[in-house]
Amino acid sequence: MELNVLKGILKQHDLRITDCRLDVLDFFIQSEHAISTRALETQFGQYDRVTLYRTINSFTDSGIIHSIPDDSGFARYGLCHETCNPKDHTHDHVHFKCIRCGQIECLPDHHVPTVSIPGYTIRNTELIINGICKSCNS
Ligand SMILES: [Zn+2]
Ligand SMILES: [Zn+2]
Ligand SMILES: [Zn+2]
Repeated sequence: MELNVLKGILKQHDLRITDCRLDVLDFFIQSEHAISTRALETQFGQYDRVTLYRTINSFTDSGIIHSIPDDSGFARYGLCHETCNPKDHTHDHVHFKCIRCGQIECLPDHHVPTVSIPGYTIRNTELIINGICKSCNS
């Protein structure tokens, strides 16, 4: 993706521009799937882990990416920069985990059903659907 576009996205989310942020953002935009911290470490060996984790934290705080619950032991993140900003960073879309390729994707057009439990205050609801993804099915 063009450098100017990447810089524009960082600015929109009130983030200072650094090489690491530009590289990680580009990687997220090019990927069709959620990205794990392990994949980021493999991809960006030139940055130390602290820098990478700080970048991830700044992205999750500012509404560029969101964490996705996963049982693999490695946190995964999906892109949401088009719908979120530092002040409003909520979404209710479903996630899909493929049992064949192991990838997780955001399904922005599919929403988690609303649940209300008397006496409880619900902060957020997560839904992961397991199955076989579109590309493995074709
Ligand atoms: Zn978000
Ligand atoms: Zn798959
Ligand atoms: Zn998502």
